Amino acid sequence: MPLTDFEAQYPRICQCLRQAKAAGRTGQAYLLIGDDADFLEKFSLAWAQTAACLGKSPDGKACGDCQPCQLFRKQAYPEFFVIRPQSKSRQITVDAMRQFDHDISLAVLPGRLKVGIVVEAECLGDEAQNAFLKTLEEPPPGTMLLLLTVNARRLLPTIKSRCQCMSLLRNRQDYGLALREGLFAILAGLRRQAGAKIGLRAAARISQLFGQLHDEAEKQAEADRDQRWDDIEDAQIKKQLAEEQEARIEAEYVRLRDSLIDAMLAWFLQRFLIASGMAAELLPHPEMLAAAGDLLENPPSPWEAEQDIREVEDFARCVKGYVEERLSLDAMCLSITEKR
Ligand SMILES: [Zn+2]
Repeated sequence: MPLTDFEAQYPRICQCLRQAKAAGRTGQAYLLIGDDADFLEKFSLAWAQTAACLGKSPDGKACGDCQPCQLFRKQAYPEFFVIRPQSKSRQITVDAMRQFDHDISLAVLPGRLKVGIVVEAECLGDEAQNAFLKTLEEPPPGTMLLLLTVNARRLLPTIKSRCQCMSLLRNRQDYGLALREGLFAILAGLRRQAGAKIGLRAAARISQLFGQLHDEAEKQAEADRDQRWDDIEDAQIKKQLAEEQEARIEAEYVRLRDSLIDAMLAWFLQRFLIASGMAAELLPHPEMLAAAGDLLENPPSPWEAEQDIREVEDFARCVKGYVEERLSLDAMCLSITEKR
């Protein structure tokens, strides 16, 4: 599958990659982050072929005719090394990693690109990651390394910072509700050392948003109400109808609220990607950045960003487990903004 087949879905990423190829500035190490391991592998193959192509197309596309292109098509490109977790243990062992390091260190035909792919890189333990760091820092000449992962948080920050990161999420969510309600502008204020006052103010504003969602849910349920029952006199049936209506409001509210909580998590995950060095144009949800303040110029450390994700995950768990909303919100915002 050529890279051009992915253009419609990831126009910016494909364009960046093709431009790098056309300019002869192909990177040495890439980290492909996504939610579908098979898809990441297909994409990495397409990019590997494009990068290995000897044609000199001005738009950076693979020519399809040169020897590397032909060999890739037959899945017979010789300078191609893949490491993946063993099927049973779901681990990539240190020994396997050392063997991979050795394989890609061997000399190849001059002018030919060597490609090393680490499939499901999250299956590398810390020790194997450390063993790989040196290769990642200084790959053998003419080598391109591609790390694929569906769980970037399992990778050491030192691994991530040595790669060009790109996000290839397939199930992009629509965060229109959160954007409309100004959620991201509130979240942008939640920063380390900001202090309790700012934390509590943010919690109050998010709580207000939840209140608006409740009103919206009520309106929606009212609009959906079956008016044929309005003239019923029977008190028993009236009571039952009122209870059913209440349940519908609550269900609609929970649906709206959960989509806002998902958006919160997406915000903090994206913040983590920025902290890990991902370029703004390659982020999965660049539309969130409009409200990001100086996040791009002044990101938290990857470690802090990761801690903050935990706080939001805790909050989501509490709320969905029926801990009181406002209490959980205060706790989350205070933990993130705490002065330490
Ligand atoms: Zn070619």
